[in-house]
Amino acid sequence: MMSFEYDALPGRVVFGSGRRRELADEVRRHGASRVLLIADPHDQERLQEFREILGEICVATYTDIVQHVPRAKATVAVSVAREFSVDATVSVGGGSATGFSKAVALELATPQLCVPTTYAGSELTPIWGISEGGEKRTGRDLKALPATVIYDPELTIGLPVEIAGPSAMNALAHATEGLYAKGTNPITSLMGLEAVRVLSVHLPLMCAAPNDLAERSHVLYGAYLAGATLAVAGTDLHHRTNHVLGGLFNLDHGQMNAVVLPYALAFNKPAITEAYARMSEVLGDDAATAVYDLARRINAPKSLAEIGMPADGIDRAATLVVAASGQNVRPLNELQARDFLQAAFDGAPPDASRFA
Ligand code: NAD
Repeated sequence: MMSFEYDALPGRVVFGSGRRRELADEVRRHGASRVLLIADPHDQERLQEFREILGEICVATYTDIVQHVPRAKATVAVSVAREFSVDATVSVGGGSATGFSKAVALELATPQLCVPTTYAGSELTPIWGISEGGEKRTGRDLKALPATVIYDPELTIGLPVEIAGPSAMNALAHATEGLYAKGTNPITSLMGLEAVRVLSVHLPLMCAAPNDLAERSHVLYGAYLAGATLAVAGTDLHHRTNHVLGGLFNLDHGQMNAVVLPYALAFNKPAITEAYARMSEVLGDDAATAVYDLARRINAPKSLAEIGMPADGIDRAATLVVAASGQNVRPLNELQARDFLQAAFDGAPPDASRFA
């Protein structure tokens, strides 16, 4: 017999090529007229385009974006928002730009409109993250949930494959983990499984043809479904581990996701038999192996060692991974955490029997 709870989240999504040009109208839907534009500085021409799209309602711009939202920089963004009396924020960029927008919204309770340029999915969640003193704190707060998201695949065309691939692996991690995390339910699992299908089919095609707008659109749609799954179902070992590693060693979020996901699936396999079987069916192979192979097909980084984690950091990380594992579907002890991290550090093929 079925028994579940589903807390649906509010939010408007506008999806389609060129639809970023509707941004000013979307801002006005919220009755706002003084926008702080929070933009990733990777493309100055794009930044200027967004200033023009917003016109006179853009009263200030914040572009000092770095990953993992350091507290000191978030404080500056909040003070800019206060100084210009903004009544909405618009973020344009990856999960990092969205993270700064969330930091402002948490303090000012202003509506957020997000225009993602990666596959991070943060724009759909009420989850915030701020790092300070080698630790990344995360939490859930409806004030952090963006009100409107505009997905325009044209904005992702310039995203280099080396960033796009791992970023989409982050999306795949949202979809897979959402199938068994604490808040999972049959409705979000429909989206999660479809996200696994869309991403596993189209991610390699997109990486092989990065200028193909149709492939970019498929991957962005998969990332949207994955983010919507994560937003309700929540996270487990995989994301908790990445938050620990991001806080301790400032590793790239997408790259960590590409490396850690197969091992998180292999470790959790005995505790998630039904979800594991459904993923494996969609992926056409054992889920952990299929994800490991997918990461290699798109030339994503292969190990935590390769992306800069220090070998002597495993023990420190293991302690924090255990401390964060109380709500995991399969909590782990220090020995297991060290072995799990060692496997990801080495990049060997995932083997569920190693973690039995
Ligand atoms: P990111 O935002 O740091 O972007 C990665 C790099 O890509 C940056 O150098 C950026 O300048 C560049 N870039 C972005 N868009 C581009 C484009 N279209 N063309 C060229 N370059 C582009 O990385 P991310 O992976 O998108 O986001 C990671 C952050 O998001 C992490 O801090 C992670 O914790 C957070 N996150 C949060 C949630 C949540 O629900 N709170 C979910 C997912 C990720």
